[in-house]
Amino acid sequence: MGESRGAWYRVGGLLLIAAAVTILPSSPALAARAPAKNVIVLIADGCSHEQYTLARWFKGAPLALDGIRVGAVKTHSADSVIADSAPAASAFATGVRTSNTFVSVGPRDVTLSVVPRPDPELRYRPLATVLEGAKLLGKSTGIVATSRVSHATPAAYMAHVASRNREDDIMEQAVYQHVDVVFGGGKRHLLGKRDGGKRADGENLLDVLKERRYQVVETRDEMLRCKAGRIFGIFAMSHMEAEIDRQDCTPQQPTLEEMTRKAIEILSKNPRGFFLMVEASQVDWACHVNDPAHLLSDLFMYDRAVEVALDFARRDRKTLVLALSDHGTGGMTIGNRTTSATDSPITMEILLEPLKRMRVSAPALWNRVADDKTAEGVQRVVKDGWGIEISTEDAHRILAVAERDKDFPENGFGEVICPAYTAIGWTTHGHVGGDVPLHAFGPGRPAGLVDGPEIGKICAAALGLDLAKLTSRLFVEASNAFAKGGRVFLDQTDGHNPLVKVEFKGKTAELPVNKNLIKVGGVVSEVEGVVVYAPDTGKIYLPLQAVQMIKGTVKGMPDITLPAAAKVVGAAHR
Ligand SMILES: [Zn+2]
Repeated sequence: MGESRGAWYRVGGLLLIAAAVTILPSSPALAARAPAKNVIVLIADGCSHEQYTLARWFKGAPLALDGIRVGAVKTHSADSVIADSAPAASAFATGVRTSNTFVSVGPRDVTLSVVPRPDPELRYRPLATVLEGAKLLGKSTGIVATSRVSHATPAAYMAHVASRNREDDIMEQAVYQHVDVVFGGGKRHLLGKRDGGKRADGENLLDVLKERRYQVVETRDEMLRCKAGRIFGIFAMSHMEAEIDRQDCTPQQPTLEEMTRKAIEILSKNPRGFFLMVEASQVDWACHVNDPAHLLSDLFMYDRAVEVALDFARRDRKTLVLALSDHGTGGMTIGNRTTSATDSPITMEILLEPLKRMRVSAPALWNRVADDKTAEGVQRVVKDGWGIEISTEDAHRILAVAERDKDFPENGFGEVICPAYTAIGWTTHGHVGGDVPLHAFGPGRPAGLVDGPEIGKICAAALGLDLAKLTSRLFVEASNAFAKGGRVFLDQTDGHNPLVKVEFKGKTAELPVNKNLIKVGGVVSEVEGVVVYAPDTGKIYLPLQAVQMIKGTVKGMPDITLPAAAKVVGAAHR
């Protein structure tokens, strides 16, 4: 191949690939003893108890979620009482509690005193996810989010990195994971800088997706026209639009409900079943900003997505649905200093009237202020967009917050307006550490107070999957595997595209990091998992399948299923 086309692993063409990955068929014995055929996990990022209560008051009727409330989830990470999305979602995906900012890799040494210090072998080690396991069971898999699909929560199911900020790496692993349906934002991490994206490695992952026979769609209408097969729906360069602003700003984007319905329609064609994760990513951001308008619109859309999943599960009767959150955000309360007098009733009008007048998100308000950053300008914009007449003094306060929080100048609207003009309170622009509500339906559903990592184990058990066996099959530490008679090293000649090289008994194999490709004896093949490099420890992890190919000892893959008698730890079954 000519140098002008780049190294072999940057071309990514299927034409090069001699052997496709062999997916093990799910055995009839497993199908008989796994409680569920399908699992759907829906995550309202950053949503705690009072947000649901507020949504119910606002709707004036029960939420779809109300009927399946079964308990609560503990949210802390390995090193923080207050989790960020990365370790919280990693616990749901892998069954292991890890450190803040870590995406489905084992924790650092430093942990909270209530969390056991990790086995040294576990530090920074990639941990297999229920999505990866479902795939190896022959099931279809899907990810739906309203953020970039490389953002922390979706990343936790598809990728393994010790920093959620490494979104180029995350997107690359996601593309090479063979996830059947991916819907969300984040096109900028599919394209190199030359093509208008952010990737520093010069790769064009959109081309890779097309070569891998994905239908790549970028609008609601294109998505709705898809009927089957692999689909990558990438609807925004960065995140998708806030639901409250979507109709005005980006009507070509699908809603979370539409994405969820389409994903289930496509994935449920597989007779072996499917795993799907759906995230209402922006409930969290609305609460960071203390923005009740954005919160309510995105939470209602999440509730509709849950209803779509429940409709399917009620008909199907073999689907476990979990709906939960990774942590709370904003510390929202129904009640604030204006409601301190407990002898005067808070009517529904007092609670709801100010919220009903809010027609746009706080970031959209700030965009409107942009040209006229004066108290009068702020007053006019707030009256127009949120229907509230605020004092000159409060308008100045909003401008002062914009000066203080330069990255989030919109923070001032909710921070200043909610405590003075509504009955809603907020305590922080960050996350909070309380338990979050757990909703569940279907076979294998838990009840009671469930620890975050138990959620991953519950999903795995529902599918009859042993996550520990799966991790040892997908992520073999390479220097151990080739300690006798071999040599493993990382070739960083192409700085942004590190290449693992293995020399073994006169053979050399090459495996690009973040991909599921191996070149050995001049032949390029796909393997059943991605290659992971952990820069913090210098360790390299390869799928066992790749190790066997290099050693020439292919003897079938080890079993990844739970023994028939296995029970889910710590979760009650009903
Ligand atoms: Zn989160």
